[in-house]
Amino acid sequence: PESKPADQDLLEFRKNHLGKSLSLSYKEPLKIVRGSGAFLMDDLGRKYLDTINNVAHVGHEHPDVVRAGQQQMAVLNTNTRYLHETINQYAEGLLETLPLELSVIHFVNSGSEANELALRMAKVYTGQKDIIASEAGYHGNTNLCVDISSYKFDGKGGQGKPEHTHIFPLPDTFRGKCRDENAAKHYAREVKKCLDFIKEKGRNPAAFIIEPIISCGGQIELPQGFLKAAYKDIRNAGALCISDEVQTGCGRMGSTFWGFQLHDVIPDIITMGKPLGNGHPLGAVACTQAVAEAFANGMEYFNTFGGNPVSCAIGLEVLKTVKRENLQDNALRTGTFLKAEFLNLAKDFPIIGDVRGQGLFLGIEFTDANLNPLPEHTEYLINRMKDFGILMSSDGPDHNVLKIKPPLVFNQNNAEELLFYLRKILNEDFMLSFKRK
Ligand code: PMP
Repeated sequence: PESKPADQDLLEFRKNHLGKSLSLSYKEPLKIVRGSGAFLMDDLGRKYLDTINNVAHVGHEHPDVVRAGQQQMAVLNTNTRYLHETINQYAEGLLETLPLELSVIHFVNSGSEANELALRMAKVYTGQKDIIASEAGYHGNTNLCVDISSYKFDGKGGQGKPEHTHIFPLPDTFRGKCRDENAAKHYAREVKKCLDFIKEKGRNPAAFIIEPIISCGGQIELPQGFLKAAYKDIRNAGALCISDEVQTGCGRMGSTFWGFQLHDVIPDIITMGKPLGNGHPLGAVACTQAVAEAFANGMEYFNTFGGNPVSCAIGLEVLKTVKRENLQDNALRTGTFLKAEFLNLAKDFPIIGDVRGQGLFLGIEFTDANLNPLPEHTEYLINRMKDFGILMSSDGPDHNVLKIKPPLVFNQNNAEELLFYLRKILNEDFMLSFKRK
């Protein structure tokens, strides 16, 4: 149906008085009023299956998480300058999921704040400021984060690469610079080239930052062996390795709790955000004792809201819920099923060029026979899926990768519903019209 008059007022006010670079999903924007499990509901009572929201990790408005927040909020909320049990319990809960080397937690309020702090730590630890990051990477909205996010500074409105940022090519084995069995070595050499360049300039690197699956880059899985080789060179140059786990963390990968664990490496710093608070603003940085000690150089780190009792009560309950409801297991089971079925769809629909990802963090790339990206087809599919009550999103430098990253309570029935409508829309004329030879 057409937007209702009330929605026109909402749109009009938003246009004039809310941030002008905010975006809205869909040609006909939705007004969402309720969430529950893997579903959202709009103001007309229509129900949508949510395959986008990796923040509502244990399900939208999970009652136990809501209750944990409400109860703590009714008792006390302060900053971290007083002793409190919950912050210790929550830090302990996170540390239990990490290797022993990563043994200190700093709490913050978002993924951007986590990466901002990680970068500051690396700068203090090394006394250097050159950072190496991936092409098409996104690490947050602060000055420093945008400065290392090629997704932003190479995109619309961007100012290009700053002097102290060094970008290596997207380690994409489907449409990237190297697509064969040498990919890990090839892309590790690209990282080494950045190190050599920094050295030629008479400087030393501070850090290397990357996501285990590059989400804004279009769900790009790092080739096996790449991270190990890159970490070795980075460490030989005296810099720190940062794993951005803002999207990949907390059980979503299925076979591992964190993304770096897929690659048999241990970072010096990992950053966490999105899923930790199930929608409540919560982020964290885990680092080694050595990094934490170097960072405590006399300047106090104060964060008004980071680590407050309400956030910690919520974070702790999210962790407990992931365990109690076996959600990592569900990510593995449902994700493996979905990926296999996407690969089956790819046999019937050549528009599907590639299927990739781990657990409930998957991507489907739409290309023609010459591997040209098909962003219009991707957008068409997303809008049609909405007509059938399924919310989906796309990403990648060419906007042609369908991202699947639902709440981890997404189950077999939800997966089957998604597959049914995907097949239906893939059969529509527009989706079948593209260059096949
Ligand atoms: N890192 C990654 C990989 C992200 O995807 C995002 C958010 N999309 C961030 C950092 C920034 O997190 P936030 O929006 O919570 O500041």
